[in-house]
This record gives sequence, structure tokens and C-alpha cells, in this order.
Amino acid sequence: MAAVRTNLDKSPALKRKLADLPTRPGCYLYRDEGGNLLYVGKAKVLRNRVKSYFQQKRLDAKTRRLVARIWDVELIVCETELEALILENNLIKEHLPPFNILLRDDKSYPYVKLTWKEAFPKAYVTRKVRKDGSLYFGPFFPASTAYRTVELVYRFFQIRDCDIEIDGKRGRACMKYQLHRCTAPCIATVDQQAYREQAKEARLFLEGKRDELKARLEAAMWKAAEAAAFEQAAQHRDALQQVDAWFTRQKAASADLDDTDVYGSAVLDGQACVHRLLLREGRMVGRQEYLLDDVEAFDGAVLAQVLQRVYSADPAPAKILAEVEPEDGDLLRAWLSGLRGTKVRILTPQKGEKVDLLAMAQENARLALERKFEPARLNEAVLEGLQAFLGLSHLPRRLECFDISHGQGREVVASCVVFSDGVPDKARYRRFKMTNEQNDDFANMHEAVMRRYKRMKDEGQAFPDLVLIDGGLGQLHAAEQALKELGLEHLELASLAKKEELVFRPGSSEAHRIPKSSPVLQLLQRIRDEAHRFAITYHRALRAKRTLQTELTQIPGIGPATAKKLLQAFGSAARVREAEETGLVEAVGKASAAKVLAWRRPS
Ligand code: SF4
Repeated sequence: MAAVRTNLDKSPALKRKLADLPTRPGCYLYRDEGGNLLYVGKAKVLRNRVKSYFQQKRLDAKTRRLVARIWDVELIVCETELEALILENNLIKEHLPPFNILLRDDKSYPYVKLTWKEAFPKAYVTRKVRKDGSLYFGPFFPASTAYRTVELVYRFFQIRDCDIEIDGKRGRACMKYQLHRCTAPCIATVDQQAYREQAKEARLFLEGKRDELKARLEAAMWKAAEAAAFEQAAQHRDALQQVDAWFTRQKAASADLDDTDVYGSAVLDGQACVHRLLLREGRMVGRQEYLLDDVEAFDGAVLAQVLQRVYSADPAPAKILAEVEPEDGDLLRAWLSGLRGTKVRILTPQKGEKVDLLAMAQENARLALERKFEPARLNEAVLEGLQAFLGLSHLPRRLECFDISHGQGREVVASCVVFSDGVPDKARYRRFKMTNEQNDDFANMHEAVMRRYKRMKDEGQAFPDLVLIDGGLGQLHAAEQALKELGLEHLELASLAKKEELVFRPGSSEAHRIPKSSPVLQLLQRIRDEAHRFAITYHRALRAKRTLQTELTQIPGIGPATAKKLLQAFGSAARVREAEETGLVEAVGKASAAKVLAWRRPS
């Protein structure tokens, strides 16, 4: 790796400061030649951290670009590392330095706003979150769920959505009152205290606090009934039933009731997408996506920065699920716990329901990232990723994948599907019926690969950039042997084993694991699944044909050759049963037709 380019020779101030760095915790601010702030970082020991930028050879591309521009460094010493972390966050929030990870919301998703500070709160959908004393719920994803939710707030709790001043001077309420969607505080049909009770219930609903809300509605219902306010009691009863039904319909995402945020990521071509799922009391109440530029891999350092940025603005949950342990994890936990006021846990789940939640977040991140790319650009980026992962000498524009299918050694077939520039190239698909019916996947794979490439070689056709085999090491070796016998050992080869989705390459028994969220793995899986589909379709067709033939050869005096002719002429045994005598004679001759007719006659 080339030495890192620095300005140490050109900037005496930088050189002097680097020679005299404190060994205390604190923040460092890098500036360029014009004095512009480039980056803010925090360190437990400023000397070690700052020096590492100028001494390490193995820096990623983004950090190398940063170091090449650093002209000066400013230091702020702190008492503790936690103090440094808080200061770092404040500085980043204030100055938005270009080399720090700054979260870009993929889109401004809507929130439901409840204007809590007002005497008569109103509820509506907004995309702007302000520190105005209102309560914001969301973000909602997709956006339509925000509108559906606020509709329920009007329906269940009759909260207003109008902007009018409630001063008791209005003579008439609007249509919402007639439609039972607002209790009309504008004409004083409800006093402030009673209206705020409605608003409290709406708040519990929006917070997803089912049990608390139910208890409140029940208590209010009985209180009204005891006071003989039967209309009011009936209103509470209806709200209770509707709310209960609504919560029941909401699929519980988790049995774990801790407020939890789940972070899944996908990285493609230097761009990362982080998908955050928000679970409150076991229900998924929102999602958010952030886009990050200049990210080579989503590691602990990137996650730590994302968490700092997110919780500098949003309240911290009790639990955070992530794919990797964040850098300085204990420090982050202490900071988040301080913000929340109770302990915050950061977990990297390995099994169970939490892994499923993580997979859901990762899948969403991947899909969001794919949406960002033009299809052609996306395929190119994924192919580049595959090239880098397998260490291929050139871009695998044309991929061929083999699979074997059989039923207990019968109707053994192989498929070869072709993907050009990441999309199926169906005209080039080929299928093979194996010469030996045997339950030996390795021998069958050898035969399929041999037949495919022998023909291409004989005909002078262009070979694929990568041959992919469905299977593990055994299948890979069989294909490798076939290529070797053909003198085509230079063809790039890999196999993808099911279940664990491990990738094997010739010359090593070591398995490579591609992250599940990676679009590269998704491409390999798509090709493998297509090969599987194509093979099994052919296998089933052959099996159906054999079954039919067997039925027809049950006819006394009809052998396999005649059964085949009958099938060719009529297509199925059922049609043979219904065929006219003339048609039968035409297909198989008089003698055989007579045998079929005798078989059809009721005994
Ligand atoms: S009924 Fe009155 S308070 Fe309610 S939405 Fe209409 S105008 Fe506003």
C-alpha cells in the first residue's frame, strides 16, 4: 500500500502540534489550508489517536483523502472520554464537517403531530419535526400509514384537526361534529378538562400503550354508567371495542416489550443505507432510512457514528439491536444510558426472533439501496462487488449456473442458466438429460459441465466469465475436473452451497461467507434459484411423461413404442380414453387401436 500523503512538510503549525500532543481525553478538529473544518473526532488519548492518522499505512480511501487535506489540528482537552463524546456530538451537529458521517434521511417520512401544549390539542400529519412542545409520533413508513393512523385518532377519540382559535364564540361546529369525528370544543359541547382526557387517550393510542389505554377507557365507561351518563358510557364502550380490535389486528412484531431500535445495513459501491426499525411495546411503530456516502464497509466505527448522530436528535430506546458491536461500545452505552436515564443495552443477536428483526432491517436497507441505483448501474455495481469478492480478473458479465435435479435417481436432469449483465438470458439456457440414471450428484455435475463446454469448445463459442455450481466442495471438484479434462481450467469457477450460503472456490477448502444483506449474495442466490427452477421443471415434465406412458403400457398388448405414439397423438391418457376409433387407427394402426378399444370397453 502506498504511503499516506500528508502536509507535514508544508504546514509548520501541524508539525509542531503533532510533536506536542496531550495524553488526555478530548476532541480534535482537523482544518484545511483555508481554515475550513474538515473533521471532528474524539479520543481517549489524544496523542495516540491523532498520531495514528499520520503514521498508519492501512487507511481506507476516505481517510486517506482526509489526511491529504489536513493543514492544522485544534485540540480540546476534556476530563473524561464521555465528556469528549458529548462535545464531539455537539461540534458535529453545529458545524456539519464534511468528513464526518452525517445522516441524510432518505426521505422525510411523515409523523403524526399532537399539539400537546395547546389547551385543545389537535392532531394532523406533518413532515416537519420541530421543538415546539408538540408530540410527534412516527416516522411512518410507508407514508400512507400516517394518514390511516391519524384517521383512527379522529374516529376513536374525536380529536380536532382544525386551526381555529377555541374561544367559545363560535356559533356552529363544522361537519366533523355531525360525523362524530370531533367533540366540537369550538361550540363548548365539551369543556377543556374533558377534551384533554380525549387527547390523553389519543396519546396513549399513538404511543401504542394498549393496556393503559384499555384500562382508562374501561374506567371511564364504568364511571359514566354509574353516573347514569349512558350516552357517554356507550361512547367509551365503542372506543374500547374499536381500539381493542385495532390493536389485535396489529401484528405483534416482537414478544419483547422493551422499546427497541433495530439497525440493518447494506453497502453498495461506496454508498450505505441504514434501515432503523422502531419497536415500542412489542409493536413496530416506525422506520427510518439513512444514506451514507463514502462507506466501504458497515463496521463498528460507522455504526458508532450513526448511533451518535441518531440519538443526538431522538430519544434513546432501552435496547438497540445491531449487526456489529459499535466501536467504543461501553462508552456509547454509558452516554445513551445517561441520555435515557435508565440502562441502554446494545446487542448483536445471533439467534432467535431478534435475528429475524435484524434480517428484516437488512433486507429493507438492501431494497432501499437498490432503488437508489438505476437498474443497469445497479447490476454493474453488484457485478463489480462479485468480481472483488471472488478476486476475478475481469467483470463477470456472463454467468452460467448448473444444477442437478432427480427423483431418487430417476429422470436425472441438469440445467444450465445464463445471466448476462445480471439479468436472465433465457435464449441461452440449456438442459440435459443425463445418460446414466444415477443418484450421484458429483458424476452428474461432471457430465453436465463436460457436455456444455465440450460443445462450446467444438463450436468455437465464447465462454462465460464465471461458472457457478449449485453445491458444495464435491460438486465444485466434479466441475473442476470436467473443465480440466477439456483443457478449460482457466475458466473462473465457484460454487454456492445451500443452507449456510457458503461460497467455495477451486484450490481451497475454505468457505467464504458473503454477508446476508449483500446484493452480491442476492445475485448469486437469484441465479442459483433460477437454475434450480429450470432443472426441476424439466425433471417434472419427464416424470409426468413416464407416468403417462406407464399407464398406457398397462393396456394389454400395448408396448412403450405404441404408448409413445398414442401420447404424441393425443397428449394424455384421458384423451386416449375419449379418442374416436378413426383417430386411434390413424395414430397406431388397426390392430393396436382394437386393443385400446377393448381396454376401454366396460368389462
Ligand atoms: S367541530 Fe369545531 S373544533 Fe372540531 S374540527 Fe370542527 S371546527 Fe374544529
